[in-house]
Amino acid sequence: MEKYSLIINGQKVATKRHDPVLNPANGDVVGYMPVATSANLDEAVAAARDAFSGWQETSSEQRAAACEAIAAKLEAHLEELARLLTLEQGKPLNGAGSRFEIGGAIAWTRHAASLDLPIEVLQDGPGGRIELHRKPIGVVGSITPWNWPVMIACWHVIPAIRAGNTVVIKPSPQTPLSTIRLVELINEVVPPGVVNVISGENDIGALMSSHPGIDKLTFTGSTATGKKVMSSAASTLKRLTLELGGNDVGIVLPDADPKAIAEGLFWGAFSNSGQTCAALKRLYVHDRLYDAVCDALVAFASNIPVGDGSDENSILGPLQNRAQFEIVASFVEEARQKGGRILIGGNPSNGPGHFYPITLVADVDHGCKLVDLEQFGPALPIIRYSDIGEVIRRANDNPSGLGGSVWGADLAEAKRIASALECGSVWINKHGAIQPNVPFGGIKQSGMGVEFGIDGLKEFTTAQAVFA
Ligand code: NAD
Repeated sequence: MEKYSLIINGQKVATKRHDPVLNPANGDVVGYMPVATSANLDEAVAAARDAFSGWQETSSEQRAAACEAIAAKLEAHLEELARLLTLEQGKPLNGAGSRFEIGGAIAWTRHAASLDLPIEVLQDGPGGRIELHRKPIGVVGSITPWNWPVMIACWHVIPAIRAGNTVVIKPSPQTPLSTIRLVELINEVVPPGVVNVISGENDIGALMSSHPGIDKLTFTGSTATGKKVMSSAASTLKRLTLELGGNDVGIVLPDADPKAIAEGLFWGAFSNSGQTCAALKRLYVHDRLYDAVCDALVAFASNIPVGDGSDENSILGPLQNRAQFEIVASFVEEARQKGGRILIGGNPSNGPGHFYPITLVADVDHGCKLVDLEQFGPALPIIRYSDIGEVIRRANDNPSGLGGSVWGADLAEAKRIASALECGSVWINKHGAIQPNVPFGGIKQSGMGVEFGIDGLKEFTTAQAVFA
């Protein structure tokens, strides 16, 4: 099995310690992650700092061309990256799985290449000329989670370098190998030190949050860790983008067609086996069509093949790790004990692998973890309601605010309700659709700042007003 290396200043750097990375479908060793020390982190930050002086001087056209060349590299290595991602993350090659994820990484990379931040003229007249210049910040630290590791790495790294910054990325210890390979490929395009990768346990992330050589940190992960990052970034007043956990609602209105919306509801909730930040995690259904929606969802769910991600027939795979499996299993058990009716699933087999079945739980309410907290797995609570005003109040009665959706035939009414939801993105008759040209981010405790599009690119810059 391959022992991977850190990549610092364009060079592979060996570490003393390596930890095994396991395939969630069967426990096999996929490869060995290099475990960085704090000295390795210092070297990576120093390399990024040195590279910054040259990279920030490159023209916008040169950086756009570099991003285009990275996209072409990823395209040429799509199958290789997808297979490695499936082995360590567990998601199937097919469906909205690994090939889809690498395809997304390429699409976001191309879009970032196409963006630009020209000088804005704010005033030009008798009172003088005032220009707004967008400048790179310096060394960007990137910390990523294990659910969509390659795509999220590209969401962080590509706009950062497009804007003229240099990067030190730290992937999740659960899924580090595909990111290391990604950075190897990126290093075939950019000069040494522009993108460096450091892997290791969570303590390396904590060291990055307080590191004086890192000017901005972009973090995607849980709300609990995001709070720690924000607190330790305070000492150096780092710029922060935090993309954190969600507990997205879906509200089905009384005029919806249960059979027509079942597929969209299902994928809104179960894409990547529910291990998606903006997945539908609480479904509220009007009393009038509650049973019909439950039946339509069960019928759709019954036909989804779940299995080893490397099997071309699998559409959903295992959970990525045991800890997440235990969270999902315990939330479903508590819901069952509190009167939840299991419509499908709920009884995982004893392995091998972290397979948890597609699970739908009816007759649940607030006051159980499956509703109140982020389950981040393939178990959806379905809550009955009868009053629209009340359901909006309950939907918003949660600290998270990432996404939400409203399902119904009357679009004007659906939009009215959508605008009352407290979240960063809201969808009508779909859930979780994101695009490279549309800002994405959470409000409340789902984060701060946005990614994607021109607004996302600006987060990797500082503004300088020039009074000429
Ligand atoms: P996590 O918070 O456990 O870990 C995320 C990353 O932070 C990992 O790389 C980890 O090593 C690192 N880390 C751990 N402790 C740290 C510390 N003290 N300081 C700095 N870094 C530290 O999250 P996870 O379990 O990997 O990912 C799942 C979570 O991520 C879910 O809550 C999900 O909703 C969220 N997520 C959010 C988005 C979004 O865009 N809003 C996208 C994907 C995932």
